[in-house]
Amino acid sequence: MFTIGCHLSASKGYLFMARQAVELGANTFQFFTRNPRGGSAKEMDEADVAAFHAYAAEHGIRTILAHAPYTLNACAADARVMEFCLQTMKDDLLRMEYTPGQLYNFHPGSHVQQGVEVGIEKIAATLNQILWPEMTTTVLLETMAGKGSEVGSRFEELREIMDRVQLREKLGVCLDTCHVHDGGYDVVNDLDGVLTQFDNVIGLSHLRAVHINDSKNPLSSHKDRHEKIGLGHIGTEAFARIVNHPALRDLPFYLETPNDLDGYAEEIALLRGLRNE
Ligand code: FE
Ligand code: FE
Ligand code: ZN
Repeated sequence: MFTIGCHLSASKGYLFMARQAVELGANTFQFFTRNPRGGSAKEMDEADVAAFHAYAAEHGIRTILAHAPYTLNACAADARVMEFCLQTMKDDLLRMEYTPGQLYNFHPGSHVQQGVEVGIEKIAATLNQILWPEMTTTVLLETMAGKGSEVGSRFEELREIMDRVQLREKLGVCLDTCHVHDGGYDVVNDLDGVLTQFDNVIGLSHLRAVHINDSKNPLSSHKDRHEKIGLGHIGTEAFARIVNHPALRDLPFYLETPNDLDGYAEEIALLRGLRNE
C-alpha cells in the first residue's frame, strides 16, 4: 500500500486537511504544528479532532506527520532561545497526544560556531527533557542538507544524537531526498549504497518517513532548495527507484515541493504512476 501525501496548511483544522488530502488523491499529509516561524499554537479543537478520526478511519488516512517550526534551534547557544525551543516542542508533543501514534518531525538544529559535537550534545539534552515514557508519538530527526552549521547532514551525526537519548525508542529518522542529495548522498546513481550506509550507521528500522522532493541544485551543494518532482537534479527515474525501493516503499512519503494544490495533485498522480504495485 502506497502512503503518499503532501504538506498542507493547518489553519482550518484536521478534518479540513484530511478532506483536502483525499481530494488531492493522497492518503496522508504533513502540516506545521503552528506558524513555521514559531509563535503560539491554536487551542486544540476536540470536536475537530474527533471528526478527523472518524473521517480518517473511513477514508484510509494514516500516519500523519506534524512538522515543528523550522526556526526552532534545539542546540542554540543562547539560553532563552533554547528555553523557547524546549517549551514549544514540549507543547507540540502534548498536543500530539490528541492524535495518538503519529509522527513529529524536527530539524535537529544549527550549532552556529559552537562546533558539531556541542550541537549534538545539546540536541540530545533537549530531547531528554521533552520525551516521556507514556507518549505515543514518534519524534523524527530530519536529515539535513548541511546548509550553514546545520547538524544532521551526516547519518553519523543523527546516530550520535540518538545514542545520547534515554528514551531512544521514541525516536526515528525522516529522510528528505533533497536534503540528503544536497548533503552529498547520491540517491540518483547509488540509492542502494546510500541506504546501505543508512542501515550500517543508523539502522533502517529507525527510518520512519520520507520527504520526497527534487532539488534545484547538484549533489553536495549544501543548499536545500526544493524543486518539483522531475524538474530538478534528482529526476523522475531516480524517484521511480525511490518509491519502489524495498527499504522505502512501505514508509509514508510526503511532498514538500514548490506547488499549489493542483500541482500537488499532479505530483501525487505522477508518483502513483511510478509505483509497481
Ligand atoms: Fe523539514
Ligand atoms: Fe523536509
Ligand atoms: Zn528543505
